[in-house]
Amino acid sequence: MSAHAGEKAQKTGTFHCAKCDEKVRVKQGEKIPKCPNGHSEFDSRTQEPGNK
Ligand SMILES: [Zn+2]
Repeated sequence: MSAHAGEKAQKTGTFHCAKCDEKVRVKQGEKIPKCPNGHSEFDSRTQEPGNK
């Protein structure tokens, strides 16, 4: 899956930046922030609760 900064996270997890592989943690229902390096595209999400 992919996601973009400004969208609501559909699930809690760690989003991996598609450009630089930085990671941001977002909770379900919160808006996804930009990555620390200013990118806004994320290409995967990991560390979903209950799915480890
Ligand atoms: Zn980035």
